[in-house]
Amino acid sequence: MTEAPSLPGIASDHPQTVQVLLPLPLAGAYTYAVPDGVAPQPGSFVSVPLGPRELRGVVWPGEPPADLNEKKLKAVLQIYDVPPLTPELMQFVDWVSGYTLFAPGAVLRMVMRSGAYLDAPRPQTGFMLGTLPEDLKLTPQREKVMAAARGLNSQVAASELARRAGVSDAVVRSLATSGALQKLETDPDQPFEEPDFRRKGHDLSASQQAAADTIRQQVATKSYVGLLLDGVTGSGKTEVYLEAVAAALQQDRTAQVLVLLPEIALTMPFLKRLTQRFGAMPAHWHSDVGDAGRRRVWRRVADGSARLVVGARSALFLPFQNLRLIIVDEEHEGAYKQNEGVLYQARDMAVARAAQGNFPIVLASATPSLETAVNVSLGRYTSVKLESRFGGASMPDVSLIDMREHPPERGEWLSPMLVDAVNENTAKGDQSLLFLNRRGYAPLTICRKCGERLTAPDSDTWLVEHRFSNTLVCHHTGFSMPKPERCPHCNSKDSLAACGPGVERIAEEAVAKWPEARIAVFSSDTVQTNAAAQALLEKMAAREIDILVATQIAAKGHHFPHLTLVGVVDADLGLAGGDLRAGERTWQVLSQVAGRAGRAEKSGRALLQTYQPEHPVIAGMVTGDRDAFMLAEQEGREMLGFPPFGRLAALLLTGENETQVNDVARALVQAVPQAQGVEVWGPAPAPLYRLRGSYRVRFLVKATRDVSIQNFIRAWTGSVKIPSSARQTIDIDPYYFL
Ligand code: ADP
Ligand code: ZN
Repeated sequence: MTEAPSLPGIASDHPQTVQVLLPLPLAGAYTYAVPDGVAPQPGSFVSVPLGPRELRGVVWPGEPPADLNEKKLKAVLQIYDVPPLTPELMQFVDWVSGYTLFAPGAVLRMVMRSGAYLDAPRPQTGFMLGTLPEDLKLTPQREKVMAAARGLNSQVAASELARRAGVSDAVVRSLATSGALQKLETDPDQPFEEPDFRRKGHDLSASQQAAADTIRQQVATKSYVGLLLDGVTGSGKTEVYLEAVAAALQQDRTAQVLVLLPEIALTMPFLKRLTQRFGAMPAHWHSDVGDAGRRRVWRRVADGSARLVVGARSALFLPFQNLRLIIVDEEHEGAYKQNEGVLYQARDMAVARAAQGNFPIVLASATPSLETAVNVSLGRYTSVKLESRFGGASMPDVSLIDMREHPPERGEWLSPMLVDAVNENTAKGDQSLLFLNRRGYAPLTICRKCGERLTAPDSDTWLVEHRFSNTLVCHHTGFSMPKPERCPHCNSKDSLAACGPGVERIAEEAVAKWPEARIAVFSSDTVQTNAAAQALLEKMAAREIDILVATQIAAKGHHFPHLTLVGVVDADLGLAGGDLRAGERTWQVLSQVAGRAGRAEKSGRALLQTYQPEHPVIAGMVTGDRDAFMLAEQEGREMLGFPPFGRLAALLLTGENETQVNDVARALVQAVPQAQGVEVWGPAPAPLYRLRGSYRVRFLVKATRDVSIQNFIRAWTGSVKIPSSARQTIDIDPYYFL
């Protein structure tokens, strides 16, 4: 993949033209002239002038505008020697743009990034044994190098060979000049090893086998089908869908498979498992992979040689040549919603990608989202079930602790019942998990003298105390400062009080209660890298931790064989607030975290601390009747016309000038088009009205399913001029209402 030489000039009077889409938020593709003698194909990567700049883009399907002024056309500068994007992927980019209402170039940017990966990296030079010239005098030093070179089975850098031989680099280089060593240049982006799909996985249980057979049959049809792999926590969903992965890879020598995971912390153990299964490390793509690593994945996906890719949601936009199967693990996870840049739901976009590419997709979960459950009941997806845990492990026993009857001591958060349970568990030598889905030490810092609640600068966001780092942090803006001694408002000394618990505070209480126990905290603040997560998971597996205090980061997918007790500090936490998915999400998180207990031989239990044991979500956790809960949830949504029974979009206006933002909002209200089946609510101040100095005002649009909410929003917002001082962001299918 090297750059082609610059192209010759344009000769004829009527130049050939192409449309080129640039990775910028522009309305569409631009027209460029094609120099004689070259024929860039749709999908080809090219560079073109734009004003004074030279930019990289992609030749896009489409016709030049009718009023094209040929005289003013600029020419394509270069065509890159990189496999073109497939028509399927270009169609997908256009479709995502149409669906999300983000510019096609903004979506293309997710595919080609900045275009930097189009440049082949500088080759790495390495040395191997060559042919010894007869007249070469072998000094003892040279002899050492030749001995070391004889032991090589692949080339190594000069410095490495010198190190092995215990001589200086110069000795190596002189041998290379004479031909005694041969110099080889290699691409640092080595191809990924082929996964060996013929390798056998674990022996499957009868029910796993049945599920795997069904999925394999569907994969064999080589056409689009949506499959839900619906299996309780610990049922072995991964083992089952890996059979589908093997089947897809086997079908076609160039087939590529993508496995999407919601959380980086899950990646390392997962990659290990896949490496065992297929005898080769898959390509992996997520924010924790450095730039060089990402370039390698991008280039090897683009040339089709990376056949198995594991990644976070953005991996969906990699330039696959022949994508034949997508797995979306933990499909219910809110983390699949992208909340910055182009706003999209990766699970939903993955389904669209599979449908457009006409290949199967497997969604796996123990707690499917309501959207997916409804798609199953409408016959749009086929459901494949695993009803019990693998290896005879039983489901955890879930019970409630009514905090009104069993309150904790003053200033504490763990009720005596939970404390007893942990005592018992620790005495048995088993592991316990204390779960609280809140980072930091305390969610709110308040001044006891003047009542001031500490917020981030120019924001309505609370500062969260992090005691490990002795800082106050805003989880929305990223602002942080050392915890002050005095109240910034009234200047009283030592008046700041931490209100409410976060995981760090629970850990503090645990340390005080169980001074002998080995206690660790697992949250995105204490475990910031993949390697740190891996280390912690290994300590759990090695039973070097007795009590793990954790946020939702521990609730997902992990397999802790010796964990038998899960204590949920505040089961009601997610239920407050008017979010339409609050109940569903709480159900999922509680089921998932409870599902960490008792996954091996020993049975497990979960204790939920609650102030509202009669709430349907909480009560439903005890009966474990998921279908009844989902049905009630479904009826509620249907009655209100909320997704998936209706469509929803949010429109957020932001700007530093409060009056102007509100003026635009008023103009928008005036411009709401009359349309059957559409309701527009707002403007209303967003829950975080002020964020980083911006004022934020929101509209919600609700439409019936037969309406194109995109067309409605296009017509509506197209009729109002937004001044450059205000910004409008449209979020189709919003998940977070901040
Ligand atoms: P799930 O994703 O459904 O929660 P996993 O696929 O992680 O479950 O499986 C749970 C545990 O059981 C894992 O440690 C896995 O290796 C093990 N397991 C599942 N199925 C088998 C099998 N057929 N043979 C051996 N081990 C299995
Ligand atoms: Zn004060």
